[in-house]
Amino acid sequence: MVYSSRKKRKENFLISVIVFSIILLVTFFYAPKYFLPVIILNQFDAKDNQNNIQKIISEKNYWVDSFSSSDEIHWSHLPLTYDMDEACKTRMNGAFEKDINSAVEFIINRTDGIITFKKINEGQPDIFFICENKLSAPSIDFYGHNSYDTIAEAEIHTNGNNYVSSVIYIYQSNPCIRKKPVITVHEILHLFGLNHPTETPIWKYDIMKDYISEDDSCDHEITKKDLDYLKNIYG
Ligand SMILES: [Zn+2]
Repeated sequence: MVYSSRKKRKENFLISVIVFSIILLVTFFYAPKYFLPVIILNQFDAKDNQNNIQKIISEKNYWVDSFSSSDEIHWSHLPLTYDMDEACKTRMNGAFEKDINSAVEFIINRTDGIITFKKINEGQPDIFFICENKLSAPSIDFYGHNSYDTIAEAEIHTNGNNYVSSVIYIYQSNPCIRKKPVITVHEILHLFGLNHPTETPIWKYDIMKDYISEDDSCDHEITKKDLDYLKNIYG
């Protein structure tokens, strides 16, 4: 056994204090990035994301629920803001961007202006569209199509009884893309809690049915039942 000298022990103590301080500082600066329950979007730096959320909370009275009389999970405010990644604007000469904008118009129109949207260019939107060709599937609150030929998926985030900033992935083109925004409307409606139809037979024009075929007429509509559900919450 070796006894260190008094000086040596003092040095060791000092080194321990320095090492401990460094660990403390590193943890303080970097840990929130990994452990805070913020919504991680692939293309946003998580730290910026926290700032954006803080900004949104103060700007929009995020915690004031305008539709609190509903027991269903719902959005706390309207209009919902939306934005998209570069791929949506550039892939297929902007066909995805057009599809997204007409999907939003379609929902505003069919709900008689009860549900509204607003395109934003900065800050964290309520709905962010990602049109990258391939992305690894996110694992939180996953919802939507899981089949082999997945066209699009909705990733829903909730906070208590409210939907909060969510993501729609549009992976590939589809037979309706230049005719009617069937797929994008379908995915947006998932973010409002609408599900795939379960009653049989399924109405062939039900926009919430979970498949689309090459020769589809794309003449899909929101069922009266689903419209009533939405109007009941937000009307
Ligand atoms: Zn679906």
